[in-house]
Amino acid sequence: MEIQNKNRQGAENAPDPSVPPKKKRRRRKQGRQLLLAYAIRGLMVLAAVLCVVLAVQGVRFLISLSSPTEAQVDTGENTGGQDIQTGGEPEPVEYTIQPRGLTVVLDPGHGGAQPGCVIGDLEEKDIAMSITQQLKGELELLGFDVVLTRSTDADVDLSERARIANEAEGDCFVSIHCNSYEDDSVSGLECYYFRSEAGEQLAELISKATDESNIDTREVKEGNFQVLRETVMPSVLIEVGYMTNPEELASLASQSYQQTLAQAIAEGIVEMMEGQPA
Ligand SMILES: [Zn+2]
Repeated sequence: MEIQNKNRQGAENAPDPSVPPKKKRRRRKQGRQLLLAYAIRGLMVLAAVLCVVLAVQGVRFLISLSSPTEAQVDTGENTGGQDIQTGGEPEPVEYTIQPRGLTVVLDPGHGGAQPGCVIGDLEEKDIAMSITQQLKGELELLGFDVVLTRSTDADVDLSERARIANEAEGDCFVSIHCNSYEDDSVSGLECYYFRSEAGEQLAELISKATDESNIDTREVKEGNFQVLRETVMPSVLIEVGYMTNPEELASLASQSYQQTLAQAIAEGIVEMMEGQPA
């Protein structure tokens, strides 16, 4: 066999130094095939990655179509809380913060046997709780953790409210009340802080937001309230309006006005928390 092969080789192909030996040629050929295989494998991997990326983007797109919450979160320019457009272009979310890990403590004033101001069958403790619950919803939509000093119609002591806020290590504290005065023409929201630059800043931001939402808003004031005195985080007390003013009382009792208030207060809180470490 060997001899026959040698003879055949010798007869058909005289050894030529310019032609590489068969072995080498085979190796080159194998090399090329290997390269081709690698290239095909690379392309297949690339195609697979592309498919995964496209699938993820597709699912994201479908999710964005089915959940309008992001568009509704925009509390900035929509002063008439009820008139948020649900069709057409979704409103971009203005806020740049990632509030996860930030805690807002909300304090609905009065409760239980302490109704606060009472006009007819309207009690301050109920209006404060209703606004607080809506504010809680707004803040949770934005990703904040929310702690309430009372979630039921309970009479919670003022120092207990401050203790709850301090123990929760809240990043800010907002107490909700309604005002009253002998002169029933007096109206407007008032935001109080006490001996704190950060508290004053929070009060200013909330007042700016309510003013821009067409809510009758008075100047920010300093007030020596126990819950402001005893809380250690930036704290404000908001008198959302005068129950003794019949027009303002009608607004305060309405769901849509409460929603506008909640959205504006949330906006002020968000602006305060912007840039805060979580
Ligand atoms: Zn009160």
